[in-house]
Amino acid sequence: MSAYQVVIIGSGPGGYVAAIRSAQLGFKTAIIEKYSTLGGTCLNVGCIPSKALLDSSEHFFNAKHNFEAHGIALENLKADLSKMVERKAQVVKQTCEGVSYLMKKNKIDVFQGKGSFIDATHIEITAENGEKQTITAEKTIIATGSKPNYFPGMEPDKKRIITSTEALILQEIPKRMTVIGGGVIGLELGSVYAR
Ligand SMILES: Cc1cc2nc3c(=O)[nH]c(=O)nc-3n(C[C@H](O)[C@H](O)[C@H](O)COP(=O)(O)OP(=O)(O)OC[C@H]3O[C@@H](n4cnc5c(N)ncnc54)[C@H](O)[C@@H]3O)c2cc1C
Repeated sequence: MSAYQVVIIGSGPGGYVAAIRSAQLGFKTAIIEKYSTLGGTCLNVGCIPSKALLDSSEHFFNAKHNFEAHGIALENLKADLSKMVERKAQVVKQTCEGVSYLMKKNKIDVFQGKGSFIDATHIEITAENGEKQTITAEKTIIATGSKPNYFPGMEPDKKRIITSTEALILQEIPKRMTVIGGGVIGLELGSVYAR
């Protein structure tokens, strides 16, 4: 059974940064992530992909509305959303690989699977294929992030009612879209599709 001084559950910005710091301070460190890629919401379906789509849609907006004033004329301008989404996936891949590299560089062991406590010092990791293993941790940092809350009766069917995660992988630009929630996520993804 592998033994660690510090184990972090969750590899989002909270988890992977804590893991790097723990390793830098000389602790034998491991990180557990239930998904196949590291980086959590922020890198996989949050900050990074939303910024990639904002970048692409801003280029399109400028080409459509602002280039002419600079003496640049374009014909048959069109937005290819599937290409924008493909580029976004590449940006996400590179960034997540960057986190894997940082884990290796700092000699942090990465376990893929869902972490759960057996007791205060034993953590069970259940891989996607159901295989289980147990590691020990003197100290554990829980960095498992958050989950969205839905209105009763308005749970996403992921087709007509979608969340920000589906909005990052649409293959067609919807003719109409209502965004519920005017926080940063709603404003960003609303801007992408409005453009
Ligand atoms: C569309 C969108 C855009 C955003 N843009 C920004 C932005 O521009 N700037 C900004 O600061 N924030 C932004 N955010 C918010 C940001 O993504 C979160 O604040 C951040 O990801 C929280 O980090 P975290 O490490 O706490 O959790 P998370 O990133 O959610 O990571 C938690 C990780 O824990 C894993 N996990 C959960 N339970 C277990 C378990 N039992 N075992 C193993 N692993 C587990 C999850 O799979 C996940 O990978 C955005 C969010 C969204 C959705």
